Amino acid sequence: MYDRHNRNIHYLRISVTDRCNLRCTYCMPERGVPLIKHANILSYEEIASFTRIAAANGIDKVRITGGEPLVRKNIVTLVELLARIDGLIDLSLTTNGILLAEFAGPLKDAGLRRVNVSLDTIDPGKFREITRGGDLNRVLEGIDAAENAGLLPIKINCVVKDSSGEPDAVLVKAFCERRGFHVRFIRRMNLETGDYAEAGGACPCGRALPTLARIVGRKRNMFVLPSGERFWPFAFKVGALNAIAPIRQIQLVQKTTRRIEVRLVAPRPLDGSQQARLRAHLASVIGHPFEFDIVPVAAIPRSAGGKYEDYISEVEAEMQGSRR
Ligand code: SF4
Repeated sequence: MYDRHNRNIHYLRISVTDRCNLRCTYCMPERGVPLIKHANILSYEEIASFTRIAAANGIDKVRITGGEPLVRKNIVTLVELLARIDGLIDLSLTTNGILLAEFAGPLKDAGLRRVNVSLDTIDPGKFREITRGGDLNRVLEGIDAAENAGLLPIKINCVVKDSSGEPDAVLVKAFCERRGFHVRFIRRMNLETGDYAEAGGACPCGRALPTLARIVGRKRNMFVLPSGERFWPFAFKVGALNAIAPIRQIQLVQKTTRRIEVRLVAPRPLDGSQQARLRAHLASVIGHPFEFDIVPVAAIPRSAGGKYEDYISEVEAEMQGSRR
């Protein structure tokens, strides 16, 4: 399977849950995030069925992620189903390690090959602070259990603020060298821009955070400006909005993982009821409870390369190409 840039697509990451038993400060708020309803999450049979089709089309490497995948009920059953699929040469799982001591043996027996474990520090106090209450010992016991079970090679994902020269990162690296584990340093995600850690577009646990890019991107109607801002212009689809207010153009720009700025070009400011209806409409279209800041603007900003309309035309042409 090849993409438009002729790259061989053979790796599938499966996020099996958005739940997690930790609350890392750089990943989610203390009270957690709005959760996807169970009815909207694929069953294990559905995941296996999709993966079978993917494998028949060239996928040979699968990683199970979350949230924290080990908190999903009967996760071992999913591993069993996936391990039986012909054509997969690698089946791995990314975990925060808290439940790994309990699951390492059963996962190995079910056919899992290896694990990635998130570990940002080997100082118990700092670990508790970063994870808002996590017990480092449980993670270290989980790593031991994974090693004993033969879930090898073990890879450690370590989040750093800026560089791998930071004191915690240096100690994690020394720990990994001592134990013969691979370590990968990942820069902390930027919650202001909504950007994730630098590697792979995901947090160290692969948690699929709610971003407009992910949600609207699936609808093939999300663009990224040269400045890096993600936006969704439906200037071409304002028909549905005319029932709410006389909006000429609208642009959605994601400011954080929970907040979207709604830039409007309209002949007059929207009143309270129009704003409420617009927010409700956007929430239903996007399908996720973002907070919407409505900001009237004189014009939608132009792209670096020319007029906004030209830019949209270019993007639309590109989208047409991507559908072929
Ligand atoms: S980084 Fe991983 S372990 Fe920490 S809260 Fe996010 S999903 Fe959970």
